[in-house]
Amino acid sequence: MARKKIKIDNTMCIGCGACVGTYPDDIQFNADGLAEPITGEGEEEAVEVCPVGAISVEE
Ligand code: SF4
Repeated sequence: MARKKIKIDNTMCIGCGACVGTYPDDIQFNADGLAEPITGEGEEEAVEVCPVGAISVEE
């Protein structure tokens, strides 16, 4: 597990909640019901929980 800067593309997010449920300290829903990073950092494995590939990390 490694902490990285994470980005979430809200043009791709379908609001399934997988990332929010798995990483509630790092990712939350915004007012539109789409995921957003809380601090901008998260576990790099968060990329793997998204079914549409909306989460990416900056190396
Ligand atoms: S797992 Fe992906 S599609 Fe689901 S809420 Fe998170 S960013 Fe959106």
